[in-house]
Amino acid sequence: MDPKYPGPQQPPPPGFAPPPPYTAGPSPPPPGMQQPPAVVFVQPAVFGPDTQRLSCPSCQANISTRVETEPSSKTHLFALLLCIIGCWPCAPCPYCMDSCLVKKHYCPACSAYLGQYEN
Ligand SMILES: [Zn+2]
Repeated sequence: MDPKYPGPQQPPPPGFAPPPPYTAGPSPPPPGMQQPPAVVFVQPAVFGPDTQRLSCPSCQANISTRVETEPSSKTHLFALLLCIIGCWPCAPCPYCMDSCLVKKHYCPACSAYLGQYEN
């Protein structure tokens, strides 16, 4: 009899379960952790000062944009500036100057605002 021999191996206690074997490889991510779908930003069309042919993103019709010249905040700012420096008789000038106005493009079919051209 070998004295170093501790005796028969103790059986695992009842209820003891070996840990599940580690499964290598990619595991599917748990639900709710998936990446949200990439948001597709609609690139605003670049508009020129003239009417443009395009398909309306709003009503999908092939249209030529309706251009409307409107004063922008820059126009009002210039007019205000002219008042401040004492050139108030010139204040309406920015509203007549093409370079101080924005050209807004609208859809003639559904009147959707499509974009603008600024000098
Ligand atoms: Zn439209």
